[in-house]
Amino acid sequence: MMSDSLSRFFAREEFFGWLLFSPERHRYIVPVSRAAIRALDITIRDRRTPNRKDLREFDPREACDALGWLRSHGCAPNTIEVVRRNPQPDSLSAPLNVYFDYTSVCNLSCTMCYDEPKRRGIKREREMSLEEIDGIFHELRHMGVFRVDLAGGEPLLFPKALLAYLHGARSRSISVSITTNATRLTKDLARRILEYDLKTITVSIDGYDAETNDAVRGAGAFDLARRGVRNLLEARRECGSSTRVAIKYTFPPSLSEEEVRRYVALGQQLGVDQVKLNPMRPSGEASGDLHLIEDPKRYYVALESIRRVAESTPELEVSGPVNPATCFGGRIPHIRDWGCVAGKELITIDSVGNVRPCSMMNDFVAGNVRHARIESIYLESRLLELRGRSLSECNSCSAYSTCRGGCRVRSQAAGDFFAKDPLCPVGAGQPLVPGPTYVPAFEELGLPHSL
Ligand code: SF4
Ligand code: SF4
Repeated sequence: MMSDSLSRFFAREEFFGWLLFSPERHRYIVPVSRAAIRALDITIRDRRTPNRKDLREFDPREACDALGWLRSHGCAPNTIEVVRRNPQPDSLSAPLNVYFDYTSVCNLSCTMCYDEPKRRGIKREREMSLEEIDGIFHELRHMGVFRVDLAGGEPLLFPKALLAYLHGARSRSISVSITTNATRLTKDLARRILEYDLKTITVSIDGYDAETNDAVRGAGAFDLARRGVRNLLEARRECGSSTRVAIKYTFPPSLSEEEVRRYVALGQQLGVDQVKLNPMRPSGEASGDLHLIEDPKRYYVALESIRRVAESTPELEVSGPVNPATCFGGRIPHIRDWGCVAGKELITIDSVGNVRPCSMMNDFVAGNVRHARIESIYLESRLLELRGRSLSECNSCSAYSTCRGGCRVRSQAAGDFFAKDPLCPVGAGQPLVPGPTYVPAFEELGLPHSL
């Protein structure tokens, strides 16, 4: 396995303190309690190990948890590399994740693809070169962005370029995940990709059998994808890689519990680590599909089915969309601007360098990496429209602090980008759960959003 850095953590300074990234765990870690924020600051700024005396003004349990976490995770002055000091008032100085659709070329033409040129397998004019893409990884590393999800188009169609990108990311300690249709995934290619210690490889299979999948992804796609997954898992066994392997179903709102069970059974037969279920969104080819947003109750029935199946299958990780109104944890608690992550924790870069808040927002171009630095686009462009914004129709909602109006793509499809989500859980009669009261010392971040 490749290893290019001795640092166990990278740190960037934000308004609330230091944000860590662990290349080993492929995750960002945030100090949550005040004691943890102080302990980490002493470790990084004073370059020494904090002790009980340093934290005497805090609750003893908080202090003990913070010091214990640092010790047990080997987080010490000599294991942390500071990569950036550019805190911004009340918001992040850079995104956490970048979805990088580095090519629009695809060998399939799925009926619900969120990007029309991809669906037709068309290469956009002037797609970015190897050098330009390497420059993006360079910029991201400079900004302290350590998570990139490579997709497309189909990212495995050009293995030589892909391996060069993986090398560029890995040499900068950027953690990469890939989403692929796996129809061209040979065992040899899998072996070469796995050398780069990816976080996750997710294979899109949009149905539990050939009939359901191929109706969306085209004739023969199901068998080819299954063969790709098997090649991948075999290569992983042989080379002892720890990269996670998942299958993902972009499901229609009519999804039943029986269908969830059959899909999870497919994951078990294949032997993957995780089964993901994401709802189809009204974007790209599906932007006119109003049935995706017109029946909130049915959507929450599907979510409930996923929850029930996940609970009855503890041996396999089954993940569904996150209800934005009841989602706690996995986000930076010091940021008051939760809800949809688009343009905040997340940005998308497409194959011609356009920066958008989220892959699904095809019309919302905030800038282009060929004409501006990613940092300037993140901090100064129309992405700001998405931050700190209030939706008056949600103001009296008790879930507002976590939800903040839900998914913008769905709102746009319903007619108003800045209106509340048409699948609003309150409107659908969903119970809202209270947030946790215990404050952990540190928390590992995910990227929960209502995908
Ligand atoms: S009213 Fe609905 S969409 Fe608005 S914040 Fe509350 S739960 Fe979210
Ligand atoms: S919640 Fe909707 S708009 Fe926000 S990131 Fe997810 S898909 Fe995009």
